Amino acid sequence: MKNLTLNKILNHIKINRDTFENEMKKLRTGKEWEQFIEKWFKVSKWPRKNYIEVFDELEKRKPFKKACFKWYPFSRTTKIPPELAFEYERALDILRNKLDPKMHRRLYARKEGRACAYCSIYAKSTKPKKCPVCGRQLFYTRITED
Ligand SMILES: [Zn+2]
Repeated sequence: MKNLTLNKILNHIKINRDTFENEMKKLRTGKEWEQFIEKWFKVSKWPRKNYIEVFDELEKRKPFKKACFKWYPFSRTTKIPPELAFEYERALDILRNKLDPKMHRRLYARKEGRACAYCSIYAKSTKPKKCPVCGRQLFYTRITED
């Protein structure tokens, strides 16, 4: 039933795509940004994974090489459909760029990684532009281990 709710959120975004994009264009402040994210994504209602679920998921998935880069799996702490994860990361990326374009550029210029929110994989390189598995846009990611 929980997944049904998350799919409803996703469908709501898809059906109201123009409204969604127009509202995003009008956001100016951090407060409006927060309200927009909660209104559309309802993040506080996302079901969470426990540590064992996260650990088990990462145990099952192994790093692989594709399109000249090594891709590592990561696990979200929330149970959400991959498409919703992508929409959410995309919105955050656009909003971060609007609120602080200088910081946004700096984050992308750092020698860190690129991640696919849909596939839950990342590369320790800033070079890949599209995900080699699904073809979606990649986002900046911080790399904590080596
Ligand atoms: Zn992907």
